[in-house]
Amino acid sequence: MPGPGFYFIGEEEEREVLDVIRSGHLNRYGSEDDPKFKKKVYTLENEVARKFGAKYGLAVTSGTSALIVALQALRIGPGDEVICPGYTFIASMSSIITVGAVPVLAEIDDSLTLDPNDVERHITPKTKAIMAVHMLGNPCAMDELVAIANKHKLLLIEDTAQAFGGMYKGKYLGLFGDIGTYSFNVYKTINAGDGGLVLMNDESVFKSAFAIHDQGHMPLRTGLEVGNRSIIGQNFRMNELTGAVLLAQFKKLDQLLERLHSIKKDFKKILKDELPKLQFRKLNDEAGELATLLTVLLPSKEAADAVAKKLGTKTISHSGWHVYNNMEQILGKKQVAEGPPFRSTEFPTDVVYEKGMLPKTDDILNRAINISIGVVDAGLGSGFGVNPLSSKEEIREKAMEFVRAASFCCK
Ligand SMILES: *Cc1c(COP(=O)(O)O)cnc(C)c1O
Repeated sequence: MPGPGFYFIGEEEEREVLDVIRSGHLNRYGSEDDPKFKKKVYTLENEVARKFGAKYGLAVTSGTSALIVALQALRIGPGDEVICPGYTFIASMSSIITVGAVPVLAEIDDSLTLDPNDVERHITPKTKAIMAVHMLGNPCAMDELVAIANKHKLLLIEDTAQAFGGMYKGKYLGLFGDIGTYSFNVYKTINAGDGGLVLMNDESVFKSAFAIHDQGHMPLRTGLEVGNRSIIGQNFRMNELTGAVLLAQFKKLDQLLERLHSIKKDFKKILKDELPKLQFRKLNDEAGELATLLTVLLPSKEAADAVAKKLGTKTISHSGWHVYNNMEQILGKKQVAEGPPFRSTEFPTDVVYEKGMLPKTDDILNRAINISIGVVDAGLGSGFGVNPLSSKEEIREKAMEFVRAASFCCK
């Protein structure tokens, strides 16, 4: 069920964690000249920021807290609307609701990411930001989305939880707009069980983000801020053990992506040769996508259901998570779960959420099947496929299984 980084947890992670455990210093703050302070979180923030080309990195506890920090650091709150895709993980929407703003759902296109042509239709005087989600490791159409954000003076947030290390036109994802967020849960590119990161270039946004992630404190909590805290923050701090695992995982990123691309190339070549009529998801940057999944689009819902059944998997529509039609908490505008001991309160908005409201998205997801290359996750619909450790023979075997299942419609 995990993402690609999971398969490569080994001695390097062990060494990093031991380094922290033996020193006994487990929290992220410490004095520069204390030999027991190993600076794992600080080093992680700086190494990722340097490699990706961002000015500031801030490690947090999860991709969800990264989104909350990002939204609040950009001063998004009550009265604001944020446009996001109807196909994404619930955290994209729940973080918007948590800061008091309202998610407005837009269509996806054949890339399974936000359809730039549908975004403008949803812009109202209340619109404050666009949240681009690089779903399934596939970069959004950033040229178009950046142009729309600039034209309408909107903020641009990139939820890069599923695409850590991905690129668009030679530049790392997460750095095209005002702020980028990442997740390190077990399904993501690299993982530490849980964890998150925020990247940004603007110093004042960084200062706000830091304060929000730690009770209103200044970057690196120098103590000078007492009496000067202008923000109510939370505690979303990463600890040194998580930082240690992620440092080791981060060093494996390039190798990991190379491996995924190589497996995907082999798998895709067999499908292309054997099923010339099969359509693939559009890739906005083939070299820059993560290659964690191979997504195919069958000619009809019926064909897709039949293929999925033969393979013991599900079409994306039926995969449960990530699809707005399956999010009863969004459709019911539920801020708190219903029934005792909870009180049900709707989040206040006239914006409508209902099944079938995004017909283009529904059509695409009805016909789409995710084949696992590096993320084996039934919740994503990728219960069928290979993993990063699969041999050439296993790849061929699985590809041919797909070919047999889909030849009735795609030969
Ligand atoms: C996983 C994910 C998140 C949330 O990450 P967590 O670390 O699980 O909180 C947010 N957005 C998307 C698109 C995701 O896939």
